[in-house]
Amino acid sequence: MKHMKTVLILEHTEEVFDKLTCDVCGAESKWDQNWSTAEHEKINTTIQLDEEESFAHGGSSAQTQYHICPHCFKTELAKWFESHRQAKPTITKSVW
Ligand SMILES: [Zn+2]
Repeated sequence: MKHMKTVLILEHTEEVFDKLTCDVCGAESKWDQNWSTAEHEKINTTIQLDEEESFAHGGSSAQTQYHICPHCFKTELAKWFESHRQAKPTITKSVW
């Protein structure tokens, strides 16, 4: 008798999220895109340029991102903005 068994054969590879590192200092996030080190906290940073063209026959888009840790955001990026043209951030706060 020929006995058969079912085995899982992985036939493809797939890009899946592994880790997030800071493009400035190389720090590694602990929770996916959340830079927090505590479970009850959420610290996300976003520096992104979205460019898109739409025509009747199709279109294209490009998304350019820098991933930066909160420390470099405050000590590098914010300082750069403030020292060039005295730029100020938009801060939106909420409490619940
Ligand atoms: Zn950093």
